[in-house]
Amino acid sequence: MKHVRALILDMDGVLWRGEEVLGDLSALFERLQAMGLKTVFVTNNATRSVAQYVARLRALGLAVGPERILNSAQAAAYALQNRLPRDAWVYVLGEEGLRSTLREAGFRIANKETKKHGRMAVEPDAVQAVVVALDRQCTYDDLKAATLLVRRGAYFLGTNPDRTYPTPQGLVPGAGTLIAALEAATGRQADIAGKPQPLLFRLALQRLGTRPEETLVVGDRLETDIAGGQAAGCLTAVVLSGVTSEEEALRWEPAPDLIVPDLTALVTFLERERRMPGRRVAKEEH
Ligand SMILES: [Mg+2]
Repeated sequence: MKHVRALILDMDGVLWRGEEVLGDLSALFERLQAMGLKTVFVTNNATRSVAQYVARLRALGLAVGPERILNSAQAAAYALQNRLPRDAWVYVLGEEGLRSTLREAGFRIANKETKKHGRMAVEPDAVQAVVVALDRQCTYDDLKAATLLVRRGAYFLGTNPDRTYPTPQGLVPGAGTLIAALEAATGRQADIAGKPQPLLFRLALQRLGTRPEETLVVGDRLETDIAGGQAAGCLTAVVLSGVTSEEEALRWEPAPDLIVPDLTALVTFLERERRMPGRRVAKEEH
């Protein structure tokens, strides 16, 4: 850990849990900066735009520019740019954060907000991709239109595979639930743009200018944050402040490099590690 030069941080479950902020974030990021550690924030949530994350982080005392935030909507835009012409028509099951990101990347949205619920602005044959994210207004007609497009051969891309996400009432359906519904209806498997696929991590490493082996991925979800960080060749730290229990973290194969209660404990561990390299047990800090 003494070779770590940068952190790729998940946000929900690491910086906050719903409305609850996890620790004195501005003090924690000053301590990371004092160690010379660079940071980029990466989230699978495609419903909020980068500008909305900038605003939330600023409200919590973190002066973070848009270049330090990546979400799965951006990963979807990059994935589409790699395979479709710039002005291709795309059918979107998703919210405004995803729609605006795809529009900014040059794509045309086949189902305009005002013409939603299955109706499209173009002929089905013109639609080259169906992009699926969390869409809290999704109707049967939207699923039906998306199903028919994928069955005609449109490229099928999901922003992120998270089947649920935590709310105060409990776990509720996420993007992965809608993707699973379309997979059931089409017999096709979606490509995934966000974590655990390596694309978001590669984009984050580009922005940090660091190598995977000197970059620590910090997240609360094993099957996206930790599996993705490991696939990208990065060091990984699970925080237990989100959706994962200590038992689940200890069972995960291959084992993450660190298991810590929360971001505060991680920062303290990194500080001590720099003073006393060779220590291995993060939990001793608590
Ligand atoms: Mg999370």
